[in-house]
Amino acid sequence: MSQNKVLSGIEEYKKMTPKSLEFSKTSKEVMPGGVTANIKFFEPYPLIMKKGSGAYLTDLDGNEYIDYLLSYGALMTGHGHPKVLEGIRNQLEEEGTLLFGTPHHLEVKMGQKIKELYPSIEKMRYTNSGTEATLLSIRMAYAYTEKYKIAKFEGHYHGGYDQVLLSVNPSVNEAGPAKRPNAIAESKGVDPYHKEHTVILPFNDLEATTEILTKHKDEIAAVILEPIQGGFIPAEQEFMDGLRVITEKLGILLIFDEVKTGFRLGLGGAQEIYGITPDLTTLGKVVGGGFPVGIIGGKKEIMEMSAPTAASDVFDNSQSKKSGAKDVLFHSGTYNGHPTILAAGLATIDVLEEEIQHVFKSTEQLKSGICDLFSQKGINVQTIGMGSIFNIIITEKENVHNYRDLQESNFALRKEIDYHLLTKGVYTKPLNRYSLSTVHGMKEIDKTLEAFKLTLNKLF
Ligand code: PMP
Repeated sequence: MSQNKVLSGIEEYKKMTPKSLEFSKTSKEVMPGGVTANIKFFEPYPLIMKKGSGAYLTDLDGNEYIDYLLSYGALMTGHGHPKVLEGIRNQLEEEGTLLFGTPHHLEVKMGQKIKELYPSIEKMRYTNSGTEATLLSIRMAYAYTEKYKIAKFEGHYHGGYDQVLLSVNPSVNEAGPAKRPNAIAESKGVDPYHKEHTVILPFNDLEATTEILTKHKDEIAAVILEPIQGGFIPAEQEFMDGLRVITEKLGILLIFDEVKTGFRLGLGGAQEIYGITPDLTTLGKVVGGGFPVGIIGGKKEIMEMSAPTAASDVFDNSQSKKSGAKDVLFHSGTYNGHPTILAAGLATIDVLEEEIQHVFKSTEQLKSGICDLFSQKGINVQTIGMGSIFNIIITEKENVHNYRDLQESNFALRKEIDYHLLTKGVYTKPLNRYSLSTVHGMKEIDKTLEAFKLTLNKLF
């Protein structure tokens, strides 16, 4: 780094965001840590936004940022896209309510669209979040295979509940051998039972994965994975092909958690790119158009287990109850298939059908611009990712395949750069990945690259 005394990124950040600091003090009186989702926190206090418009966010101090966090990838048409707002307004005005509490046409319309884009999804159900979708996928796998363990990959996130909140971001000291990772709880209060019932696999290592799955084949119901780890480290094609073959051979279901990658890698998600047919798929984020949503879908014979017509379920109070609730796979929820949310999601898909290629093009331009700027300074950087998501990894490693490789990258420098970028109007949560939207154009890319240039000139 330059010998000249430069303000650290965090000091500069504090200088320009006094109102966020003040707000954080008050919000801490109301919510633990001042946040209602731990992911929203970063040191020394998170930025508090007050307005969004297109590709931009404005914070409490009036600073404007190009938004690359996009609500952790959920907003793929940017903030307040007119067509999405119109879809929401039309649903409310024409249908007169936010909620019917009955089946309705948008559930079917979205379902048909999903089936068209994701041919592996023969039938589907709606949930209120990605978390609920993966949770249900695990119950489906248990029920279908009558086995009661699951396998997940180290470094992969599927939601915040006990079965999967293991080895998402473990300390390498505790994580055990790379080829036989330990199950490490990622929260207080995780029932130790799950450390025994969730098997941890090494991503992109087909040989070790095959060995572990073979050993536990009679207990493991399903392998769940992010086809692109964290949204940016792609599975190798050979690994993916091998995983599909071995799971099928061993009678283990394959669940693609496409909550991040759905629509963002292509309209048909990672499964379209890899040419893989998973048994079950979970979707979320983009498909809610900014509202909370989840979808789980897949093979008909698996999904049909949840049909209440198959047998009596927990809500059947009739005297003539044919069978016990245990004969149906229970799935319900007051807000499942919320009309306004589906209207926003359908409008989002409409926009993406026209404009997704533009998003990919802008993403590639930004990635290559960033690489050029780093290489001019002689810093080894990789902009890893596919479609409309990537991350900036400062590393000497030629290839970053998985969680362990990622741990060897220079997080400290990346973080320093991220704080400087915040002060120059480029927003992502420090260390987080970049996601783009249909409204990120050349103007935004140029401004962003200028901010990178100024930052790197300051530091080197
Ligand atoms: N799976 C993956 C791959 C995710 O990225 C996320 C959210 N980051 C979830 C599940 C959980 O989704 P939600 O936050 O909507 O519950």
